[in-house]
Amino acid sequence: MKLILVGPPGAGKGTQAERLSKTLNIPTISTGNILRAAMRDKTPLGLAITEAMDAGHLVSDELVIRIVEERVTKEDCANGYILDGMPRTLPQAEELERAGFHFDAVLLMQLSDEEIMQRMSGRRVCENCGDSYHVTAVPPKVEGVCDDCGGKLVRRPDDDPETVKERLEIYHKETEPIISFYAERGLLKPVDCKSDVEGTLQAILHALGV
Ligand code: AMP
Repeated sequence: MKLILVGPPGAGKGTQAERLSKTLNIPTISTGNILRAAMRDKTPLGLAITEAMDAGHLVSDELVIRIVEERVTKEDCANGYILDGMPRTLPQAEELERAGFHFDAVLLMQLSDEEIMQRMSGRRVCENCGDSYHVTAVPPKVEGVCDDCGGKLVRRPDDDPETVKERLEIYHKETEPIISFYAERGLLKPVDCKSDVEGTLQAILHALGV
């Protein structure tokens, strides 16, 4: 199964992508996690994108397309994958289609801007593997430590309230146009994300008919 998760920052894409990945036994491809790993490792790519990423701006369409094209050739993607945070602009969606990518469903994770602003203040991510947590909604077993890999949980620099506001603006302007693109192709499945993690996962599985 090949899926796309679309939605505003903080709707729970990363968390649901991890849960779905375990449930469906297919990997998640998170362009945000791949880019943050490059920054953490201070690769030439990582150094080149740090400013844009920390400011909450998008990186170039060419760059993320290249990352995804390379990642899907890996063996673990043979039975499908979940794209988290990609595509994020209409040109990215068009390029994926032009390059021959096919998807079974595009899950639209819906949450109001107000609720996003509230949620983002409690979000923490593992600086090692990128897994997402929330201080109250999805707490780790040990405070500040990733359940999966033992890495340190940190607040993302682009999660401060002013940057979140800017990221929401970018989402409405740059990313929302892809909603009608996939609706026209009959792939769009809206999911209400107001519920807790388990409730939202069930809503997604229901929307997928699995
Ligand atoms: P995310 O973890 O999905 O919230 O992404 C964090 C940041 O990574 C974004 O604010 C962008 O700077 C960059 N990024 C991730 N995915 C994309 C994409 N598909 N297109 C452009 N920039 C992206």
